[in-house]
Amino acid sequence: MSDVADRAEWRIAKDIEAAMAHARRTPKLEADGHCHYCDDDVAHGALFCNTDCRDDYQKEQEALRRAGR
Ligand SMILES: [Zn+2]
Repeated sequence: MSDVADRAEWRIAKDIEAAMAHARRTPKLEADGHCHYCDDDVAHGALFCNTDCRDDYQKEQEALRRAGR
């Protein structure tokens, strides 16, 4: 019987999957003083002017990925 080993492997695969999903949700963006979605001025170090822009940006990225080549 290899139930325990199977479960451990499944657990590891799930962890990797979750980590990758998290990495995809947080794209590496440079904070350049402008909102990455609407191009408004934002506080230093901020990527978006508000959560709406962040959500819309992520939705857009999702859509692009889904439409991707
Ligand atoms: Zn914005």
